[in-house]
Amino acid sequence: MANYIITGGAGFLGSNLVRRLLADGHSVTVFDSLVTGRRENIEGLEGDLEFVEGDIRDTAALLELFASKAFESVFHLAALPSVRFSFENPQEAHDVNATGTLNVLAVARAVGCSRVVFASSCALYGDETPPPISENASVKPLSPYAAQKLASESYCVLYTQFLGVPSVALRFFNIYGPRQDPASEYAAVVPKFLTCLLAGEAPVVFGDGEQTRDFVFVEDAVSALVLASSSLKAPGKVVNIGSGVETSINHLAGLAVSAAEVEVEIRHAPAVPGEVRRSCADITLARNVLNFNPETTLEDGLKKTLDFLTMLI
Ligand code: NAD
Repeated sequence: MANYIITGGAGFLGSNLVRRLLADGHSVTVFDSLVTGRRENIEGLEGDLEFVEGDIRDTAALLELFASKAFESVFHLAALPSVRFSFENPQEAHDVNATGTLNVLAVARAVGCSRVVFASSCALYGDETPPPISENASVKPLSPYAAQKLASESYCVLYTQFLGVPSVALRFFNIYGPRQDPASEYAAVVPKFLTCLLAGEAPVVFGDGEQTRDFVFVEDAVSALVLASSSLKAPGKVVNIGSGVETSINHLAGLAVSAAEVEVEIRHAPAVPGEVRRSCADITLARNVLNFNPETTLEDGLKKTLDFLTMLI
């Protein structure tokens, strides 16, 4: 049994990681400001779980927690993960997404923590490289959010090389699954489509729908985090995490309609300016370094997500 901290553990990805670690018999401490995360996401779970409400901009609060017992690893997932929010509030987004990561690394160093696993994003690839996109592709942040993730990754690499904190950054592609918020104004495409369909309405596809994404089921994303916390080859690396399957939004919409078993015509709306046209991960490095092997097909993942959303109604 090991002790883990999860910053952002009351959010979508974090609350799924909490479940996995508790099920594996570990002790988990969640540190979350609840700005987008929810207490309900981690309530009523069996196992050794502690919740600490706090903000990663507050270094003293981080230090108090990190020094409270010996933690094997810190999963640093707390962020304001919306591209649009980062354009509207670049400085606040920077304070949380970039300075917040630096705070976590600095405090991990102060207490001698042996591993930080950081949730980065495929957003920093921009739109120049055709899929499959490997970690060697050039990075071109097209938003403050992407720039903040790139800065954070760089700190993870530097802290591994020069400051004694073995860290790994996982560049997640489009994660979906239970507990992803469908109601947020920044909601992602999968929960948006599925909640529309559950209400008997047609999902709205922006543009021609032939833009592509790599949808990775949250349980596979969680497996990658767990593997990254123990892999001896991971420290200092930046690793793509996706399904490795390129899916168009039209195809996703079709699969969502079949999963929901409703008869609706998909609606189209004008394209979103500046949207990346094609995105899909090359996951060779994740296979080699982490032994990562995504197991859930998009069809199965959509069914599981739909079952979860149905339970909430
Ligand atoms: P989420 O919004 O559900 O979770 C983020 C959590 O961080 C929330 O619980 C929120 O309350 C918390 N938080 C925000 N600011 C905080 C602060 N200042 N101090 C403490 N806690 C704070 O988002 P998510 O989808 O679960 O994303 C988790 C991580 O994965 C983020 O770092 C995100 O950038 C990254 N990521 C997610 C995806 C995806 O598809 N969901 C893709 C790439 C990267």
